[in-house]
Amino acid sequence: MHEIHIAGEAAQLALGARLAERMRPPFVLYLQGDLGCGKTTLTRGLLRALGHQGAVRSPTYTLIEPYALATTQLYHLDLYRLADPEELEYLGLRDLLETPAIWVIEWPECGGGALPPPDLQLQLGHRPDGRSLRPVATTEAGLALARALYER
Ligand code: ADP
Ligand code: MG
Repeated sequence: MHEIHIAGEAAQLALGARLAERMRPPFVLYLQGDLGCGKTTLTRGLLRALGHQGAVRSPTYTLIEPYALATTQLYHLDLYRLADPEELEYLGLRDLLETPAIWVIEWPECGGGALPPPDLQLQLGHRPDGRSLRPVATTEAGLALARALYER
């Protein structure tokens, strides 16, 4: 799928909101790309569209932040500071995965094999005039969501 250009923070938030329109649990979203390329901003747009009203920060030190939303449980992970994938054991992901939820995972490449496999990966990048996004879908649900990003 070709690259999508996202011009500015407001557009980044709007893209997150568009994902929220069609995302239903269980769903696993991987957000990939360098520091500052808009992973948390996208997550903020998604969470707000799902009704979350408070702040959204990367759980850089706590690794995981749970959100009990009106329509779904959502777990936001940021694994940038994970020293060893075995640390994930202590988060008790296995138990959490027993109930359908939405998972949004920043830096999934740091998680080794301990993470649930993605439905959709979004590869984000820096551009002089904003950010770029390339979707890589790995399930039918992921593909449907990726296609929706090209509509309108
Ligand atoms: P990450 O979580 O990938 O490290 P953040 O979401 O924290 O990145 O964003 C880093 C900075 O980039 C923030 O100041 C944010 O407002 C800005 N930003 C996010 N998306 C865009 C965009 N599409 N264009 C310009 N700036 C953006
Ligand atoms: Mg972040």
